[in-house]
Amino acid sequence: MELGWNQDLSILWMERLLRLADQVGRAGEVPVAAVILDNDKRSIGWGVNQRQRDKDPLGHGELVALRQAAALQGDWRFNHCTLLVTLEPCLMCAAALVQARMGRVIFGATDKKRGGLGGVLDLSRSPAAHHHMACQGGVLAEECGSLLQDWFRRRRAAVCPAGQSAAPHSLLSCSDP
Ligand SMILES: [Zn+2]
Repeated sequence: MELGWNQDLSILWMERLLRLADQVGRAGEVPVAAVILDNDKRSIGWGVNQRQRDKDPLGHGELVALRQAAALQGDWRFNHCTLLVTLEPCLMCAAALVQARMGRVIFGATDKKRGGLGGVLDLSRSPAAHHHMACQGGVLAEECGSLLQDWFRRRRAAVCPAGQSAAPHSLLSCSDP
């Protein structure tokens, strides 16, 4: 970690993202939230899942934040930036972060089913990755994971008829409500 960045800062931002993810979960989206910080640790882009709202398969929080931040800074390159997100980016988002030359990615819960930064594949270490991102997972992982598990549990309870057992667990994903 570079000078001036520490675990307390990661936790502080992750706590903010958890509150935002909780709000978006109550609105019916999978509760995932992301923020991009510039070199001075100022937020330049926020994003939450908005696939349902926008009927957009690309409506993942990381991509929403990338678009907002790119418009604000007037550049598509993010070498000097850090993206924080409550769930490990999926393959689509991990690839987009490589394309965007993101300097650092910090995430909360690991996604063993669809994670693109170690959960299933690690695009940051792939020979196909032309850009190296510093990645760190596990920041408030328990809280981030619980938020998602509780959301899916409530959703299954609402979908499954009474008395019928729900689908197997391990449904942590930003792309699979
Ligand atoms: Zn994604």
